[in-house]
Amino acid sequence: MERSLGVAVIGAGITGLTVADRLVKAGRDVRIFDKSPANGGRISSRGTCNGDFDHGAPEIQVSNPEFDTFLNGLGAISDGNGSRFGAPRMRSLFDPLSDHFNISSEVEVTAIDRESRGWIVRTASGRSFAHYHTVIVTIPAPQAANIIRACQPDLAAELDQVKMQPVWTCLVEFTEKLDLPGKVNGGGTVMRADRMSAKPAREDEREAWVIHMRPEFASDETFADPAVMAPIILDAFGENYGIELPDVAYLNAHRWRYAFAEEPLGVPFAGDPTAGLLVGGDWTLGARAQDGYESGGAMAQAILSREIVNV
Ligand SMILES: Cc1cc2nc3c(=O)[nH]c(=O)nc-3n(C[C@H](O)[C@H](O)[C@H](O)COP(=O)(O)OP(=O)(O)OC[C@H]3O[C@@H](n4cnc5c(N)ncnc54)[C@H](O)[C@@H]3O)c2cc1C
Repeated sequence: MERSLGVAVIGAGITGLTVADRLVKAGRDVRIFDKSPANGGRISSRGTCNGDFDHGAPEIQVSNPEFDTFLNGLGAISDGNGSRFGAPRMRSLFDPLSDHFNISSEVEVTAIDRESRGWIVRTASGRSFAHYHTVIVTIPAPQAANIIRACQPDLAAELDQVKMQPVWTCLVEFTEKLDLPGKVNGGGTVMRADRMSAKPAREDEREAWVIHMRPEFASDETFADPAVMAPIILDAFGENYGIELPDVAYLNAHRWRYAFAEEPLGVPFAGDPTAGLLVGGDWTLGARAQDGYESGGAMAQAILSREIVNV
């Protein structure tokens, strides 16, 4: 078992990175765990043999000036209409952060336990990390409930109330340009679709698109094979916008199991700072990155104001 002191943050999405940033700046010792190889969570881009696709959040809408400053610090590009982007891909915002934070990537946390000396973080590989003053869980509510259920059943039951919706996403490169604007909003079963090259500061010759379907579209688990779903989504896209689609050079799909909260928690975090366990994420306040930022900020403030963290 590895020995440590300080704060463990589970999840390197916008919520986890925000809370970590505030605590590190306040002089706290923070270690972040994320099961993915890359930071950013659902603000995500997939690298393929046909280039990158922003298959997570297509943009970040900003109305909170502090969030704007935070994103500017990450090099976000503005479109002049209230949205911010990473360039050359959304995930670029988070690429350099490994140098600034102590991040353990590709480490899946399976449970946390409480001992008299502090919290233990248990991982899928069987390795454990101890003892933390505080654990901050910043993953989607259903996943958070799973890892805390054994030690905090009441808190897990609270999180069980937050239902999250799935979204199917299609990644496609066409061989010819579509007669559509760079961003098209909902039509029928399609929630929105974006041409990758239409985002600011992109040098992209491809006719590459990412299509997000509405949560109601094919949320049944039995239709979870991306190879089957990709052409179905493509047909729906063409039909919804009344266009005949050209041939494709690349086609894939991704299912976001926990894309959006159906009904947010209503407060910026759950748990108890004095007990050293907090759970937050976008799903506490809404369904957007700014909600995650505000949840992360509220958790940091709650911890620092109670001065319960090891200095
Ligand atoms: C299709 C789609 C479209 C969207 N569109 C927009 C939009 O237009 N504008 C907008 O602002 N937002 C949008 N969002 C929402 C936005 O992406 C989220 O609000 C935001 O990314 C949530 O950040 P988070 O840090 O709370 O959670 P996440 O980004 O989900 O981060 C959680 C992190 O925890 C990690 N993790 C999970 N389980 C474990 C575990 N057991 N152990 C270790 N690590 C774990 C994950 O790998 C992930 O990195 C969209 C999301 C999706 C999916």
